Amino acid sequence: MSELTFAAVDLGGSKIAAAIGTADGRLVAQSAIATDSHEGPHGVLGRLALLVRDLAALSGTTPSALGLGVPGLVDVANGTTKFLPNMTGEWRDVPVRAILEPQVHCPVSVLNDARLATLGELTYGHGRNARTLVCLTLGTGIGGGIAVDGALRLGPLGAAGEIGHQTIVPDGPMCTCGNRGCLEALASGPAIASRGMYLLQCGRAPLLRDIVGGDIGAVTTKEMAAAAARGETIVRDELVRAFEYLGIGIANVVTMLHPDVVVLSGGLTEIGSLLLDTVRKTVLRRVRMFPATDVRIERSQLGDTAALLGGLALSAQTAVGR
Ligand SMILES: [Zn+2]
Repeated sequence: MSELTFAAVDLGGSKIAAAIGTADGRLVAQSAIATDSHEGPHGVLGRLALLVRDLAALSGTTPSALGLGVPGLVDVANGTTKFLPNMTGEWRDVPVRAILEPQVHCPVSVLNDARLATLGELTYGHGRNARTLVCLTLGTGIGGGIAVDGALRLGPLGAAGEIGHQTIVPDGPMCTCGNRGCLEALASGPAIASRGMYLLQCGRAPLLRDIVGGDIGAVTTKEMAAAAARGETIVRDELVRAFEYLGIGIANVVTMLHPDVVVLSGGLTEIGSLLLDTVRKTVLRRVRMFPATDVRIERSQLGDTAALLGGLALSAQTAVGR
């Protein structure tokens, strides 16, 4: 008998990544297309299903189940989307599972993308040898996920683990969720870049200005990291300040859960040691009730395939469970 295969899809605001793979985390076929979410749910889901069928044909297999990650909140039990802030079109209460199952000819499970990536880390990444795991995806937003004692913690709404939306500064900047001073509003890519733009605008970051050729709109954390590496202290201080906020957010979670490992992924982690070292130091400084030296804080080994691998793990569970 040939090996069972599973399908995984990571639906994002700009692209749909899909893969066919095996339960041991081997991706046998992989592809991506633009989301074009202005087409609305039915258009997007139709193309998503076509992508899965094409990959299945390419791999010469019939996937036993599909695990799908979406950028927002979902009704996990019913496979219905609830709140997808980064997708244009009306995505509230879309019965994604019911729409997709007849088109992909297998059971479909739907999870928030950061929780799906957490399942990927737990099954195939740094979590393989861990019981309790915390994941943060650092990019345009700050996504999060938690696994406790080997099981993904979803909560009744699949919303548990939104680490980016804990309050860090009570009267801090407004967040996309409506709260003030969330970790995301202080330490996401755009939040940090806005501080770089401010420094550039008031003439205090000449090196950063050179790097972006005077174009304020071109400032991202990448250019800020380059300016910091070339000795622009004021820019470096802004980065460190944001990474200390991140460290405080992680220290709060470490105090509550005492996880084995905290996994960081997303574009911001490309900054490397300045981020990791600052976070590690801040966690040690802020967790005082027990020595947090045994809590590993690591960069993901799975990179942007974590959610796809989580999709394989989820669909492998679904296929066994039905
Ligand atoms: Zn928030």
